[in-house]
Amino acid sequence: FAPWADPTQQPYIEFEGVTKDFGNFTAVDDLTLSIYRREFFALLGASGCGKSTLLRMLAGFETPTKGRIVLDGEDLTGTPPYRRPVNMMFQSYALFPHMSVENNIAFGLKQEGMGRGERADRIAEVLKLVKLEPYAARKPHQLSGGQRQRVALARSLAKRPKVLLLDEPLGALDKKLREETQFELTDLQYELGMTFIVVTHDQEEAMTMADRIAIMEKGQIVQLATPPEVYEAPASRFVADFVGSVNLFEGKVVRKDASRIVLEAPGGGEIVVDSTAPAEIGETAWYAVRPEKLRISAEPIEGANVLAGEVWEIAYFGDMTSFHIRLDNGQIVRVSMINRHRFSPLQLTWHERAYVAFDADAGLLLNR
Ligand code: ATP
Repeated sequence: FAPWADPTQQPYIEFEGVTKDFGNFTAVDDLTLSIYRREFFALLGASGCGKSTLLRMLAGFETPTKGRIVLDGEDLTGTPPYRRPVNMMFQSYALFPHMSVENNIAFGLKQEGMGRGERADRIAEVLKLVKLEPYAARKPHQLSGGQRQRVALARSLAKRPKVLLLDEPLGALDKKLREETQFELTDLQYELGMTFIVVTHDQEEAMTMADRIAIMEKGQIVQLATPPEVYEAPASRFVADFVGSVNLFEGKVVRKDASRIVLEAPGGGEIVVDSTAPAEIGETAWYAVRPEKLRISAEPIEGANVLAGEVWEIAYFGDMTSFHIRLDNGQIVRVSMINRHRFSPLQLTWHERAYVAFDADAGLLLNR
């Protein structure tokens, strides 16, 4: 059992009906969420969705307007930030520029009143953890971006918090370093057995690092699931579109029976959705297919779920090729494949069940 699926496990962190208003603007809206011990948890959403505000309330930098936050059985309401067993690593790292790496790490420990000997041990321990032992005497400006990020990480781990909060931890790094650091962070979290909560707007970052992801929109959670669940079964059109790339086909419901809903396909033809969900004839619905689930054929394909088009653009990425296919109605469809066929015109279809469909309110139409 994963902790979140184990009925005997107690949640470690609980947000209970938490709301945060700034004036008459609601940044976090009556949000309830449980996070488990040792989870690598990601809060994912577009800029302004309220994810940082949620993290800052857990850290104690913001006070909820309503609701409460419980950590390891303890209600945090009224506990000032420095007394909470959490630590935050900021995107900007907030390192002291005039202090050495060692002193940057020592600063918070000194403030806690930790003695010199213990402090030295703790600094050595975290420097080893982030593989920065040879850099203890350097100043931040004598380090690379990746090394500065590690100092910030070491500093936030030095107090041995119960929970580490990471606000856009990789935002300042270039692509290659970001990818390496993602793996290092997951290894580190596993090794330490600590609970990590990361805030990010980068879906790839959330997908690669997290055990579970909460996707936020307008101060609320719109889906809470593991990365494969989010990708394979997005809970709404918004999530399907936000996580990974997706082709969205829009069409009216033309027929339905007890187990199927038939939509008009772009450029004629029909899309058949296995669904017992209520749908009205004439209502608009959407159908979402990931680029790698589409299949291209030079030969005509019989039956429903077939779209006709021509190759519009081809982008070669080495490990795969991305095709832009222009359908007869002008819509551009993305298809990714390992090989590089160049035939055109062509027909498109998809593996059975390799899709999700949504109703007019952009909620889920399928109940598979
Ligand atoms: P980003 O990735 O851009 O930081 P976010 O999802 O983390 O976005 P928050 O920082 O949580 O978003 O902000 C949510 C909303 O609340 C935003 O619209 C923001 O302008 C607003 N907000 C945040 N802090 C304050 C504040 N102190 N006063 C007024 N409004 C605020």
